[in-house]
Amino acid sequence: MPAFSKILSLTGWSGRQPMRQYSAAAQSQLRELLGKQLSGIKEAGTFKAERIITSSQSTQITVQGSDQKILNFCANNYLGLANNPEIVQYSQQLLGKYGAGLSSVRFICGTQDIHKQLEQKISQFHGREDTILYASCFDANAGIFEAILTPEDAVFSDELNHASIIDGIRLCRAKKQRYKHRDLADLEQQLRSTDARLKLIATDGVFSMDGNIAPLARIVELAKKYDALVFVDECHATGFFGATGRGTEEYDNVMGEVDIINSTLGKALGGASGGYTTGPTELISFLRQKSRPYLFSNTLPPAVVAVGLKVMDMLLSSSELSQRVQSNTQRFRQAMTKAGFTIAGENHPICPVMLGDARLASSFADEMLTRGIYVIGFSYPVVPQGKARIRVQISAAHTESEIDQAIQAFIEVGRSLKVIK
Ligand code: PLP
Repeated sequence: MPAFSKILSLTGWSGRQPMRQYSAAAQSQLRELLGKQLSGIKEAGTFKAERIITSSQSTQITVQGSDQKILNFCANNYLGLANNPEIVQYSQQLLGKYGAGLSSVRFICGTQDIHKQLEQKISQFHGREDTILYASCFDANAGIFEAILTPEDAVFSDELNHASIIDGIRLCRAKKQRYKHRDLADLEQQLRSTDARLKLIATDGVFSMDGNIAPLARIVELAKKYDALVFVDECHATGFFGATGRGTEEYDNVMGEVDIINSTLGKALGGASGGYTTGPTELISFLRQKSRPYLFSNTLPPAVVAVGLKVMDMLLSSSELSQRVQSNTQRFRQAMTKAGFTIAGENHPICPVMLGDARLASSFADEMLTRGIYVIGFSYPVVPQGKARIRVQISAAHTESEIDQAIQAFIEVGRSLKVIK
């Protein structure tokens, strides 16, 4: 018997179903390993089940198993544009004209005139020199640090930055330094003691679990003092935060002083998908040459680009929607605080209703659903132990009566679960 056949016969291979035993054994090992971990996640009460929505994303949605409309308070649909008829119609129009997609990355044959137009409009919106589009902000964050930083450089990152910033920094070869959450004394101490060539401070503009804001004006001040660059992730700010929706730098009165902004098209800006980096011309040109998620991933589809284009036109001509989300936010925060709830964060449509206990947060959310209000409880490990909460997200599209309905439901459930008197 030839040696190879002998080896295979010893392993039980019959010749008719090549390799089946190997992969079956490996696969059952994989199933067992992951199955155990999944059981652990379920036992810990942190398993994330997905509710299936059967309507478009909106303030009123339907979910599988019921025809009843429920009020949605957990989307990042801050401007309420996710099912805006004008945007959907424009997207259909460009889908017809430009087709489903480009079957290409940007630098081969994936750049259409509409991609360049969207980049130009985003630059105009932020008052920046140039912009590069990505498939998502996760990609924009994954692609920037590795492209621009070398071992001679250092990056200073807020410890509570979004996972995509953390992953992006992991990929780069610069010296990695974490500073305590929004702690400027810690940041300054680290900046003072570095001898790095480029120093880059990286922070979320708005931290999405707490709805709190980076102290950007003081970060910019420190950056000037220590000759550092400032990078801000504006996913939870672009389009609606600050007086005209220009984001955290507008909110904190440092318009134009941040060096690099990364943000998403998948939240306030129509909710489809896509991300971008906006900043100095040389940076954007360099990213087009070096940034791996840009170089090695398909271009944004025309129907998605259309959403961004239409939203940018709307935001460049009016800031009415950002004012509406701000007044809705105030209405909710004020009434809930008056009712006795603790709402974390500052003036932001992310309104975490602090409850402490994980099971309380989960049963509170269930009770809210029976009253037609869709909110989600967050607990460890997504937030620290003992800091479970319900994260409410306000939209410009919520009517005052919808906000009041949610407040009323919170008060009823809060009383029945003895969270408030
Ligand atoms: N950065 C922050 C702060 C986010 O909250 C998110 C999304 O959850 C991202 C980046 C990723 O954005 P995208 O959905 O465009 O990948």
